[in-house]
Amino acid sequence: MFISKEEFKQAFIEKLQTLFGQSLDESSINDKYTALSTLLRETISKRWYETNRQYRVSKEKQVYYFSMEFLLGRLLGSNLFNLDLTKVCQQGLNELGIDLADMEAVEHDAGLGNGGLGRLAACFLDSMASLQLPGHGTGIRYRHGMFEQKIIDGYQIELPDNWLRDGYVWETRKADRAVTVKFGGSVRLEEQAGRLAAIHENYEPVLAVPYDVPIVGANCNSVNTLRLWSAENNYFDFSSFSKGDFLKAVEKKYSLEATSQILYPDDNYPEGRTLRLKQQYFFVSAGLQSIVRRYKRTHGSKPADLAKIHKKIAIHINDTHPALAVSELMRILMDEEGLGWDEAWTATWQTISYTNHTILPEALEKWPVELVETLLPRMYMIIREINERFCAALWEKYPGDWERIRDMAIISDGYVHMAHLAVVGSHSVNGVAEVHSNILKTEVLASFHQFYPHRFNNKTNGVTHRRWLAKANPELAALISESIGEGWLAHPGELSNLHRYAHDPAFQASIRAVKQANKERLARYIKDKMCLTVDINSIFDVQVKRIHAYKRQTLNALHILDLYNRIKENPGLDIEPRTFIFAGKAATGYYLAKRIIKFINTLAQVINNDPAIGGKIKVVFLENYSVSLAELIIPAADVSEQISTASREASGTGNMKFMMNGAVTVGTLDGANIEISQEVGGENIVIFGLTADEVLNYYKYGGYNVLDEYHGNSRIKTVVDQIVSGFLPASPDEFDSIHHSLLRTNDEYFVLKDFIPYAAAQEKINALYREQPRWQAMAVNNIAFSGRFASDRTVSEYAIGIWRVKPVVIREA
Ligand SMILES: *Cc1c(COP(=O)(O)O)cnc(C)c1O
Repeated sequence: MFISKEEFKQAFIEKLQTLFGQSLDESSINDKYTALSTLLRETISKRWYETNRQYRVSKEKQVYYFSMEFLLGRLLGSNLFNLDLTKVCQQGLNELGIDLADMEAVEHDAGLGNGGLGRLAACFLDSMASLQLPGHGTGIRYRHGMFEQKIIDGYQIELPDNWLRDGYVWETRKADRAVTVKFGGSVRLEEQAGRLAAIHENYEPVLAVPYDVPIVGANCNSVNTLRLWSAENNYFDFSSFSKGDFLKAVEKKYSLEATSQILYPDDNYPEGRTLRLKQQYFFVSAGLQSIVRRYKRTHGSKPADLAKIHKKIAIHINDTHPALAVSELMRILMDEEGLGWDEAWTATWQTISYTNHTILPEALEKWPVELVETLLPRMYMIIREINERFCAALWEKYPGDWERIRDMAIISDGYVHMAHLAVVGSHSVNGVAEVHSNILKTEVLASFHQFYPHRFNNKTNGVTHRRWLAKANPELAALISESIGEGWLAHPGELSNLHRYAHDPAFQASIRAVKQANKERLARYIKDKMCLTVDINSIFDVQVKRIHAYKRQTLNALHILDLYNRIKENPGLDIEPRTFIFAGKAATGYYLAKRIIKFINTLAQVINNDPAIGGKIKVVFLENYSVSLAELIIPAADVSEQISTASREASGTGNMKFMMNGAVTVGTLDGANIEISQEVGGENIVIFGLTADEVLNYYKYGGYNVLDEYHGNSRIKTVVDQIVSGFLPASPDEFDSIHHSLLRTNDEYFVLKDFIPYAAAQEKINALYREQPRWQAMAVNNIAFSGRFASDRTVSEYAIGIWRVKPVVIREA
């Protein structure tokens, strides 16, 4: 490995020559990117090999994080950072006249996820490797990840994501580790050699080929594996081909490969299509087959060895999407390895643990019985048996309580309820923030909590401070290290030492200068992309996340409209200039969310072009929100908008990224906002609105009438009327759905109920910002108390409390 700048320069130039036969001057930025990444991969590969070898010989327990989504973003920068090579490369490249940032920008984001859930999985991989835990990811190599969003005429347009277009340097195809996943057909049970064998016939085989991505730990030798499965097939219909029907000859091949072609772009709303269920079983089955194969090589292949699999393997399922792991592990242990039901069941539930990510009723996954039965006949047989045994146990504990048993059954009303399968088949069920875990115990899964009180626990989410602070905001990281030393990089709790600088004028000036530079960088991007000039001395007020009714971009937008009205009425209105920045994608089929995007863009058009408001406020909607765009936007934020309806956002992780970068949160008492508020203290955050208990009480007992709000306040009535009055330049019915969601369905997300408290919170932000020493102290304290929200803390809680895995220190080869 290169250690000095000079060694690096030489290695880099040589790599360009051997890869492309080109000199530095002749090479394109793409070639330079490939050369640097390839160089890095060679260093990583040695450690990767060593890590795998030492895991094998140590025979330590391994954990596998199963997730349908891994929203990795770009890897060049974070790999350089974790290898501690950023400085050497940056300086070396500078001397060659190359900007590292330009090279990083060449990499396509690996957008294999929708939002928070997929990004959480990516942060966990980074933390597991950096804590030297033997923890790996299992997922799907989507040919097309999250769609690319364009905004045209204010509307969201979706373009297919083609992230593999130029190849992907970080992956390795492992064709020799391919396995077969069986769909459809029929299963019969037959007595063979004294035990029941399941014979699966007439199935459709899909070949699952793994592509491995190395996950580099920070400042250690660990390199873990993210194994992404791709559906491939060698199937070729020779009979059609020889008859001249060439299209038909390849049709079947492509239909089999369709399984891993696309990521469904739905966030917190399950897609009910057959292909989605196929994707779930595809990666769960392939992943488990490969894990069991490896386990047998290391720990023995007799049934008695497999009965102890939970002692050496932990499987974690990220939401219910991989819940078929329960029945698939049962199948493998019984049908392939010869265990009896009871042995297989004990091993299975002790291996698996489950994280719940949402309590939105419409987001709880369920699959029609006929679909599961036809597509996955053996899974259905096993799930039915699990259900029967579970219901029998319930009957024993609650004799005659039919209602409770029906509510808890895995199969009922013609559906397989995936959360029920996940709870019954796991030894641990966790929520992702205190309030969310409590709601699971007392509301959504209350009867399961009564039956299995010890299974339930909380693991508040976190984000990797390496990517979201150190790498995304290097100037801030340098300033922190200058003040409190570098210990916080390994131990983010040490950030609390910044607290004593909160009121230090010199430190405040530095922190302000860093923020200013980040705002300039974002302003340049906005200028380049949108030809729009924003005032870098205005408050950058940011709401970036998926567009969803419960996240309430509508509340933010209506408040902007109200502010605009007030400025129009009183041009002298004395407020700090503000730039409202939005970004986020709407699910393709989510009509209301798409109208919200159009609404924000229409507001922007009106406000940004109205000279009468004297540039006091501006509205920007940045297209194509993604991990790399988040890394640009978040360090530039003064204000973090976390305004979901209380009880609806399980945790949020965007809120944590903003806090780490010194933004002040305006937020509801929802998800992790509550814990952020507890950590940073009430004087360093602006909280408003209904509490989770109040919202849940309204949902249960009623008592909210939106018309009381609408008629009770003229500011509210004015903005609601303006949605549909023709006040905005759009077709007359353009925003009917937004108006409808407020007045016709009794404002399900309490937008109008929280409107006045929100406007008051925004006035408070305005006043606080004007007291700059006070504001800067708030910014510093937010950074100082963000250590708890580093995913290193979260992951070590999982390791100790759920997975029971310990670090394996990888020695240098
Ligand atoms: C962190 C992140 C999210 C999650 O944001 P929330 O505000 O918690 O919903 C979504 N998308 C991207 C690209 C992210 O980086």
